[in-house]
Amino acid sequence: MTDDSRIVLIVGGGTMGRGIAGVCALAGFDTLIYEADVAARGRVPSSIHASWKRAVDSGKLDSEKVREAADRVRTIAGIEEGAGAAYVVEAVPESLPLKEKIFRDLDRVCAGARLLGSNTSSLSIASIARAAARPDRVIGIHFFNPVAVMPLIEIVYGPGTSEATIAAAGEFAAALGKKTVRVKDAPGFATSRLGVALGLEAMRMVEEGIASAADIDRAMELGYGHRMGPLKTTDLVGLDVRLSIAEALAAGLDPVRFAPPKILRELVAEGRLGKKSGRGFYRWEGDDAKEE
Ligand code: NAD
Repeated sequence: MTDDSRIVLIVGGGTMGRGIAGVCALAGFDTLIYEADVAARGRVPSSIHASWKRAVDSGKLDSEKVREAADRVRTIAGIEEGAGAAYVVEAVPESLPLKEKIFRDLDRVCAGARLLGSNTSSLSIASIARAAARPDRVIGIHFFNPVAVMPLIEIVYGPGTSEATIAAAGEFAAALGKKTVRVKDAPGFATSRLGVALGLEAMRMVEEGIASAADIDRAMELGYGHRMGPLKTTDLVGLDVRLSIAEALAAGLDPVRFAPPKILRELVAEGRLGKKSGRGFYRWEGDDAKEE
């Protein structure tokens, strides 16, 4: 019999949902993924297995552990099949109306869940929570990309989030082997606000011809000890994702400081979305970023 406290429901099987699912299954959770797009849903398991295989091939994961995890992850055709979940993580695109609808449904369906978490990078947890009859269970549980590698979960509490939910988020993060920071609900939280500020300034510097994208990144990597420069990070996150966060921060915090630079809008309009589309500030060959 399945222990309900070990069931995780993930809503959205894109970049983040797949990464979060992979980490949950490896940590021993029965992991259910609801992806709305049926074609994309079909690709979710193979994509998770492919990333596990890369980790096994490079000696970072044990193949027996992966075999066990593979039995614990499956896609579902509707969130009702995840009704017994103890932990819920929503990872659908960054749209408040979309997330509101999902939290209205999750609140009704997942009556016994310890937390209803959103992986939002910039939306207000209070606004998302307003859709739920029990806003005390709604919390930001912000993973980073690539989820398997990045050790942080930013726990974002809204005005209505209960201490019990914050504690449950901490226990969930610990069970996944992640470290946490606890941040009050405010536009961009701690990480997106600082990360995007740096990223937008780096883009303005490319626009002004101050240095190449690669040299700006190298400056921060070698001069300041950042593991990855701001433009490569933007390519990894997705330029479209960064643009929507910048727009949210411009609307919610400061329209001048967070105004999306022209180059960002132009690259997104051209379909240069970063690693996922093969080109952004860099040209991508698999995991390798080549200078433009
Ligand atoms: P994505 O576009 O790669 O994936 C989103 C997935 O959700 C898509 O597969 C889409 O088909 C699916 N979806 C849409 N509507 C749905 C619905 N009603 N029910 C179920 N699935 C639905 O996006 P992503 O990059 O994975 O981002 C997801 C969330 O995570 C966003 O809020 C984003 O801001 C946040 N985030 C992203 C990153 C990143 O680096 N990409 C990092 C941290 C947080």
